[in-house]
Amino acid sequence: MKIARGIAAGAGLLLLLLTANLFAAAAPAAEKPSIDLAKASKLDQPQAGYYRYKVGSVDVIALSDGTVGLGLFNGIVANASPQKITALLNHNYQKSPIDASINAFLIKLNGKLILVDVGSAKLVGPTAGKLPDSLRAVGVKPGEITDVFITHIHPDHSGGLVSADGNLVFPNAIVHINKKEADFWLSKANAAGRQEPQKSFFDQAEHKVKPYFDAGKAQTFDGATEFFPGFRSEPTYGHTPGHVLYVLESNGEKLRFLGDLFNIKIQLTDPTLSLRFDTDSAPAIAERGKSLEDMAKNGYLVAPAHMPFPGIGHVGRDGKGYRWVAVDYVNDAVAK
Ligand SMILES: [Zn+2]
Repeated sequence: MKIARGIAAGAGLLLLLLTANLFAAAAPAAEKPSIDLAKASKLDQPQAGYYRYKVGSVDVIALSDGTVGLGLFNGIVANASPQKITALLNHNYQKSPIDASINAFLIKLNGKLILVDVGSAKLVGPTAGKLPDSLRAVGVKPGEITDVFITHIHPDHSGGLVSADGNLVFPNAIVHINKKEADFWLSKANAAGRQEPQKSFFDQAEHKVKPYFDAGKAQTFDGATEFFPGFRSEPTYGHTPGHVLYVLESNGEKLRFLGDLFNIKIQLTDPTLSLRFDTDSAPAIAERGKSLEDMAKNGYLVAPAHMPFPGIGHVGRDGKGYRWVAVDYVNDAVAK
């Protein structure tokens, strides 16, 4: 039986080969593909980043401005030894330099197109400054943005307001900034005698934020303000003197845009870590600790500016500290 089946199988294979040869003889010579697959592939193209997420009935679109390598052993962590930093990085499966995302957010609300923060332009290096590309990828032109809400005046949050040649990138938008924040960074007296990195922050405020005030396109507000039904600010001072977060609520769901309430994952593991970017570390640490506890306890969605793109998720407890829990990824494209 075994032999007979072997022969039958061999005959079948032969028939298949013969048939294939017949077809080959009848078919015209195979043409070369007209598409150069290597050139057509987008695998080696820069990737614009956007991700749409629903909060209640409101569309929130995370926009990537890029990522930057952030070395943590060059004194940027103000109050931890290299040994402690290493242990915290190991806990998070990270190595220095870490890849920090720069995330901004587009919200369609009340017939308006709102941006929360605007990325860095090229102020933090060539790997960032991609917000205009990400915006283009979702089909929105900068001129269509009606309102820009700045969490704080640092280059990776407000740098994208003005182009390299000095033009307003969002000419039809009102730029909203906490009065405390604008007063601090636009004051020449405050700038005097500052060390880096703070010194550069003042220069950048002059070139990237002041033009909107000069053009009558900037409005200041007091720390806790409701701008539209379901959209308001909350003061969280420390990282900068007028740092705010923004709260979006719709149909019982809530998302808080956190700005730089924390910058890197190891600040969740140990919320007492301070970075040199903090203007005033003691209130920054206090605000961070209080807010993280509230997030973990109440379980609402948060969108920090520097967690891995798209940077929307939750903060949960992790021992004495906290951890980042990204939302599940959903691909809602229609298959063609
Ligand atoms: Zn910042």
